[in-house]
Amino acid sequence: MKSSDLFSRAKTLMPGGVSSPVRAIKPYPFYVERAAGSHLMTVDGVDLIDCCLGYGPLILGHAHPVVREAIERQIEKGWLYGTPSPLEIDLAEIITGDHPGIDMIRFVSSGSEATMAAIRLARGYTGKQDIIKVEGGFHGAHDAVLVKAGSGATTLGVPDSAGVVADLVAHTRQVPYNDPEALETMLARNDDVAAFILEPIMGNVGPVLPEDGYLADVREITAAHDVLLILDEVITGYRVGIGGAEVLYGVKPDIATFGKIIGGGLPIGAFGGRREIMELVAPSGPVYQAGTFSGNPASLAAGSATLRYLHDHLEIYRRLDDATRAIEEVAVDARQGSFVRAGSLFKHFFRGEPPRNYREVRECDTEAFLRFWKAMLDAGIFLPPAQFETNFLSAAHSKQDIEQIADAYGSCLFA
Ligand SMILES: *Cc1c(COP(=O)(O)O)cnc(C)c1O
Repeated sequence: MKSSDLFSRAKTLMPGGVSSPVRAIKPYPFYVERAAGSHLMTVDGVDLIDCCLGYGPLILGHAHPVVREAIERQIEKGWLYGTPSPLEIDLAEIITGDHPGIDMIRFVSSGSEATMAAIRLARGYTGKQDIIKVEGGFHGAHDAVLVKAGSGATTLGVPDSAGVVADLVAHTRQVPYNDPEALETMLARNDDVAAFILEPIMGNVGPVLPEDGYLADVREITAAHDVLLILDEVITGYRVGIGGAEVLYGVKPDIATFGKIIGGGLPIGAFGGRREIMELVAPSGPVYQAGTFSGNPASLAAGSATLRYLHDHLEIYRRLDDATRAIEEVAVDARQGSFVRAGSLFKHFFRGEPPRNYREVRECDTEAFLRFWKAMLDAGIFLPPAQFETNFLSAAHSKQDIEQIADAYGSCLFA
């Protein structure tokens, strides 16, 4: 059955016909028959080079043999125990070993769950109620962080979603990214702030990169005000290198959140931090957190296999950096817009200068983006279908794939 027919059926069964909003490509999304390496094969028989990669988790590409084997081996032994398994110790040792700021970790099932628990933990630890987030920062789809969360919101202080209690959101404050003074000013006026949560690189409107010294300033300011720093490394963890943004930028969080890559493409999330803070999590402390699927064996096996593979093939990070540079070399001469990249993250913004914050991101010409996106799709390249989503590359993208992407950038940007 063709994608258009499948979508007609889906529309009557699921809101918007999809399981997550960004997938609702107009007039209808393509349905995937299977995926391998850097490619997606649609039910319509179209072969696409994938630069979406499940929105980030698949740094080794689709169905990588090493990860697939780890999953298959685990499936033979069962996939849900409801008791501890050795696998969780294994993955916990890898992640805490790679992150100097993280002594202990708790596994959950999604990035949203991780940030929800991290915020509760910060409130439990500090005894304070407010949190500060970055305008346009995305931390998942739960109430406390659904304010100016990515491209959705436009109105100051109003939740991005119907059904969110205004009294709750009143405890969520916002500061612009790359603006340490705004954070300092807000903290000087408010002594009820438990935590500042941010994506070290804004990944859900971007990538929007931190200016020199910004993250160090953020660390210093939060420490000076006894406010916990929560680094949301759900995208950047193992994406910008081993040790994520913590190691890349040398900024030590009090709590960090993970997801995406650490599950090797299966559902996962995690939050971790300093021992003294993490000891407050149930059952060792009073901050409650629990989940039926937490630490599920298949995700842990896929995650460990992925992280081990990355450790054994560190050259992947350099290769991916070279690959986005090659695309940049083509895109940089475009008449319109600006190209931004960080390792394997990249994006062309339809705005003269690279945006530094959410306000500038919103100045992008989204119609020009959609024309470009459609032309890229016609050229066989699947980019995330929004100006406000980051493009990704994987270790499975071949030299030929990269050339094809760069050529398509050239012809689509200059068309
Ligand atoms: C994807 C993402 C989340 C949410 O993770 P889910 O697994 O989709 O719940 C949280 N924070 C950031 C920075 C993300 O990119």
